[in-house]
Amino acid sequence: MNELLEKMARLGGTVSGGPVEAEFTRGWGKHPFRGELAHHWTADRTIAAGHKLTTEGAYWLHSACGLTTVATTQVQLLGAGTYEYCKRCERVLMKPNVAVERP
Ligand SMILES: [Zn+2]
Repeated sequence: MNELLEKMARLGGTVSGGPVEAEFTRGWGKHPFRGELAHHWTADRTIAAGHKLTTEGAYWLHSACGLTTVATTQVQLLGAGTYEYCKRCERVLMKPNVAVERP
């Protein structure tokens, strides 16, 4: 995958890092339906009152910059790959005691 990422970067295209691992908890990623930037996501597998996230391995994703979305086995969070990082997430991560991971 790294060879593909390097080749795409040279060609000026963007490519994701492929689906994150099933146990994803926190790190940079590209959600298929959340714009063209990679955000720093934290997985939340709790079920909010009034929401049914019990099918297809669904879980919440919250970005450092304040976005909330859902990932499922059908709509998976992808590794950041060559996508540009969200500047707002980066600013939040500049604060002390925040771990940065890139799937
Ligand atoms: Zn962000």
